[in-house]
Amino acid sequence: MKYRKLVLSTGNEHKVEEIRKILEGLPIEVLSKKDIGLGNIDIVEDGNTLEENSIKKAKGLAEKLDYMVLADDSGLFVDILNGEPGVYSSRYGGEEGNDKKNIEKLLQKLKDIPMEERKAKFMAVMALITEDKEIIIVKGECKGTIGFEPKGRNGFGYDPLFIPDGYTKTFGELDENIKNKISHRAKALEKLREKILQLLED
Ligand code: IMP
Repeated sequence: MKYRKLVLSTGNEHKVEEIRKILEGLPIEVLSKKDIGLGNIDIVEDGNTLEENSIKKAKGLAEKLDYMVLADDSGLFVDILNGEPGVYSSRYGGEEGNDKKNIEKLLQKLKDIPMEERKAKFMAVMALITEDKEIIIVKGECKGTIGFEPKGRNGFGYDPLFIPDGYTKTFGELDENIKNKISHRAKALEKLREKILQLLED
């Protein structure tokens, strides 16, 4: 590896913060696209799967850079809604990135559904493009239950509704260190850490 820099292809500051924390300790610099002056580059996410979108976002930036690029495409998949909002998680309520509207729509859809039938999972697919332009895909998931009302101010997106299995509080209420150990993003990045260590050795 020539440069020890990893650029994140996302405009979501929450994702940047989480990915930075989870990858802490690796001898590489984790940068956002804003950090390198490319904050205005917007890549259209029109794929049908998280994988397609993550590759698209990573490639869109990697073609302009010599550094490694990482993109995260993620979403919430609710069992009883046949996987909705899924790939459309960020615009479920009709407006891109409006967490409040997304939460309202999800609660409305689950209005009469009892706790035991509110099972869901977060999934993250990450595409890493190496300095040699090789694509490496890693995936992670985190299972849980959708609560009846938003609780807590931590995290972002659907975190105030999501109660991870094994806990009684939402990601919005739980300490960020807990989320960053058990989340879909943490699980995917655990695998990526190994791959990056291998690349550093080569
Ligand atoms: P995208 O990957 O930018 O297309 O958007 C992912 C969307 O999924 C976010 O806008 C959130 O609504 C949701 N999401 C993904 N990861 C998380 C998470 O860790 N917590 C809460 N919501 C998430």
